[in-house]
Amino acid sequence: MFRIYRPYDFPDEIDPAIRRELKRLGVKFEPELHGETDAIVCLLATKVDGALLARVPKLRIVSNVAVGVDNVDVPACTERGVVVTNTPDVLTEATADLAWSLLLAAARRVPEAERYVRSGKWAKWDWTALRGADVHGRTLGILGAGRIGQATGHRAVGFSMQVLYTSRQRRLLFEHTTQARRVDFKALLRQSDFLSIHVPLTKETRHLIGAKELAMMKPGAILINTARGPILDEASLAKALKSGKLAAAGLDVFEREPKIHPDLLKLDNVVLLPHIGSATESTRRKMVETALRNCIAALKGEVPPNGVNAHALNLT
Ligand code: NAP
Repeated sequence: MFRIYRPYDFPDEIDPAIRRELKRLGVKFEPELHGETDAIVCLLATKVDGALLARVPKLRIVSNVAVGVDNVDVPACTERGVVVTNTPDVLTEATADLAWSLLLAAARRVPEAERYVRSGKWAKWDWTALRGADVHGRTLGILGAGRIGQATGHRAVGFSMQVLYTSRQRRLLFEHTTQARRVDFKALLRQSDFLSIHVPLTKETRHLIGAKELAMMKPGAILINTARGPILDEASLAKALKSGKLAAAGLDVFEREPKIHPDLLKLDNVVLLPHIGSATESTRRKMVETALRNCIAALKGEVPPNGVNAHALNLT
């Protein structure tokens, strides 16, 4: 029998083969963590740190139902021989779709226009009202051309945009299919009309974009963040939006979720979403299935398909 700590009850209908395998292994899902816990299947809200790990000596796997693992102390897990897994790929397209939802909404002031209609103030057609920014033919900067960054860049081709990107390694196939150009971080800031953030949250990327970087951006640029809130300094962003240095921003993630910086809440030129990048029915189901497949493999003593620290644990 295996005991899995699952602080959140996923209501999704999952692949019957996974359900059968869980039954065959005698898996019991529990809402509490204790000394006999074999595995954790969790969301970003669960902070897996040294203190938590000390309470679960039998733990084999932390299966995060997300691609980002910034809520997990991965080195501490590796030290204890605990494999950490994530759910890459299955959420790439949904998250890129949401980055584009934010980009278009921020550029064309869609939520502001909708609020205006609902307010009852729309009394006559107004030639000058709610003018936004062009999207087609402009320059999209991708900060971190990994899976989601590239998927976001691919969509720009349909809008005849020029694509710039940063990445520690060159992405030749991406360059070939989108005509994207790899540039350094400063050039990305200076040349992008739209800058979309797709790096993971790490020690190096925390507050990667602050007052100094915002000052380097084009006047009237639009910033999109669907990666992680702390990559962006929200107080500096609010100032840049208020002063008009940036025309707009679209944010799905925040520094202290679910709290949002009060200055952002007062601004009309920022689109605010409650961290819904992967929130489509099929994506959420596939994320749970991926996390459970990872968990099943680890409990059976096999190498899980998405081991973040598999290399460090010599599992590959
Ligand atoms: P990925 O494939 O690993 O892409 C991350 C990219 O960032 C890679 O290109 C990596 O390339 C680059 N990178 C890493 N550290 C960097 C640094 N210090 N400076 C510059 N580039 C750096 O990950 P993904 O699947 O695209 O996911 C990206 C992030 O999106 C996740 O970590 C997660 O936080 C976020 N996300 C959010 C939602 C949501 O609901 N809003 C949903 C899914 C994912 P190099 O290593 O070559 O530099």
